[in-house]
Amino acid sequence: MSLFSRLFGKQAAVAYKTWHTGSGAATCQACKDLDGTCWLPGNSFKGPPLREGCSCPGGCTCRVLVVRQDEAWGPGNAEWIEKRGGLVSGEQMDKFLSS
Ligand SMILES: [Zn+2]
Ligand SMILES: [Zn+2]
Repeated sequence: MSLFSRLFGKQAAVAYKTWHTGSGAATCQACKDLDGTCWLPGNSFKGPPLREGCSCPGGCTCRVLVVRQDEAWGPGNAEWIEKRGGLVSGEQMDKFLSS
């Protein structure tokens, strides 16, 4: 985000969101499995923190990364996610991005 948009609150719409797990060996498998999951803002998928099934010591530290429409690959990726029902796994996304 540029300083300009931060100051004036002019932000492009959210294209999609990505699950980003906390780093380190303490991250539990349930959280790791969700790393890279991408979903559209309108999807009913609930982002982090993971409450059910998380066994990270101290609780889930996963975060949401937001990709906006004005980011070069935002709109195209969002379109691809939408075609797959608005929610894709990190594995699917990795394949897409490397294809
Ligand atoms: Zn966890
Ligand atoms: Zn987590």
